[in-house]
Amino acid sequence: MSNLTPPAIQLVGLRKSFGAGEHEVVAVDSVDLSIGEGEFFSLLGPSGSGKTTVLRMIAGFESPSAGAILLQGRDVTGLAPFDRDVNTVFQDYALFPHMTVLQNVEYGLKVKKVGKAARRTRANEMLEAVRLGSFGHRKPNQLSGGQRQRVALARALVNHPKVLLLDEPLGALDAKLREEMQVELKAIQREVGITFVFVTHDQGEALSMSNRIAVFNHGRIEQVGTPREIYDHPETSFVAGFVGTSNVLSAALSQQLMGVADVHSVRPERIRVVHEVVADGEISVAGVVADLQYLGADSRIRVDLPDGAHLLASVPSDGLVGVAIGGSIRLAWSRFAAYTVADTRSPDSGGSNTSEGGDQ
Ligand code: ATP
Repeated sequence: MSNLTPPAIQLVGLRKSFGAGEHEVVAVDSVDLSIGEGEFFSLLGPSGSGKTTVLRMIAGFESPSAGAILLQGRDVTGLAPFDRDVNTVFQDYALFPHMTVLQNVEYGLKVKKVGKAARRTRANEMLEAVRLGSFGHRKPNQLSGGQRQRVALARALVNHPKVLLLDEPLGALDAKLREEMQVELKAIQREVGITFVFVTHDQGEALSMSNRIAVFNHGRIEQVGTPREIYDHPETSFVAGFVGTSNVLSAALSQQLMGVADVHSVRPERIRVVHEVVADGEISVAGVVADLQYLGADSRIRVDLPDGAHLLASVPSDGLVGVAIGGSIRLAWSRFAAYTVADTRSPDSGGSNTSEGGDQ
């Protein structure tokens, strides 16, 4: 993206509250975000964190309480949905049941008064793009869930929007189909080159599909970055716990183990079981094995530390000789595996110092 090209989407100080007085719910608060042309961008966060509200404001279905929305540099904050160059694909697809697949895809063009021959050509091209070229004559109820999803996608893409908004579009699919569609959707996005904004609460889905991700918590963005940046360098304890699994070491425990009184996060796969003295630059701690979960190639060990905290370690199963529940164990990790994070976990995390990612 050059400096001369405005971003596809810019959100500036965006805020949305519902209700008033003591019933006021702040759904979205102080959101600043810039999404580049052609990006596959995910809004990731737990239920109720404000993702859908942000998407609905970009689409124009909801108007912000404060802030501005710019599409390609143009302020669209006060414009109606049909005056914005965006299209939305919802989780329930909302196909017209009485129309054929081809008629469903053509519909938007018909509304725009595109001539019959031209709209047929464009609709067929789009059906080819979503690999449903030979399904045009079928009715939606003669399709599988994944196929219906692709028709919904074709119907949105046929209008050539600058931006496509997708609200948990794979939510209704079973796990296997969902994985297939993740690959397909990413491939289609690459082919058509349109900016995709994708709402999901599934961290695996966001990591595997996105160019960049914004992680939401309580209506605010906690971190924006590439999947690798978010996973390898979480900036807050919430991000560390929501994206993947993480051990969060309190400032007191960090001081005791590493001599630095900051909250740290360490991934379970960066922790080793050791039997001897550790190398320079490594941190080590002894504890008692509280749980041992065999997961195939790897196993997960939960280790209780003397002061009440616990650690999760993910280690190769063939290195578990002598490890048993109730036995003592020594764990070690490199100093470089521990990242300083801002502590943003909510008080209702139950004081646990480990957290598992959303929907793994
Ligand atoms: P989910 O993954 O469950 O869809 P989300 O992250 O998309 O969640 P939102 O739907 O944006 O979250 O909701 C954010 C907050 O705003 C929630 O607390 C929700 O209850 C509230 N909210 C959303 N829409 C309304 C509304 N129309 N009236 C009142 N409160 C609302």
